[in-house]
Amino acid sequence: MKRIIIDREKCDGCLNCNVACISAHEEGSNFYTVNLQSIDSETRNFIKFDPKTGYTPIFCRHCDEPECVLSCMSGALEKDPKTGHVQYDETKCAACYMCVMNCPYGVLKPDNKTHTKVIKCDFCEDKPDGPSCVKACPKHAIEVKEVSL
Ligand code: SF4
Ligand code: SF4
Repeated sequence: MKRIIIDREKCDGCLNCNVACISAHEEGSNFYTVNLQSIDSETRNFIKFDPKTGYTPIFCRHCDEPECVLSCMSGALEKDPKTGHVQYDETKCAACYMCVMNCPYGVLKPDNKTHTKVIKCDFCEDKPDGPSCVKACPKHAIEVKEVSL
């Protein structure tokens, strides 16, 4: 199974990963044309800054035992047994945000525009080259690696 692995020491906070994530999920946009002022422009990953420890990329881990899936009562979050990715179906979401409260990494959030769905990493499963954030990171602070469970 493939996972995004983080090496926080390499991250310099350029936010290329955020822009790549937004453009990957915004129809008709690309890295250079994405409208970062739009309320629809929401990244599924975050870079946290602490003056003492520097930058920390916060990404969905597609956990082995995902708390988001375990806490979702409407079946909107499921772990795909083949890929290991945790996927979200907004049509099933009741917007109770139990997943947001229970994700141990604090990576989930309600969408800014409607507050009726969750913004969740989908591992760019529709992109043949894999996650857009990983391709955009010039420091290789985030990489896709094969992991065994
Ligand atoms: S949203 Fe949080 S709990 Fe769910 S798979 Fe991602 S990191 Fe794990
Ligand atoms: S693209 Fe890479 S170096 Fe830049 S903020 Fe994201 S993880 Fe850090």
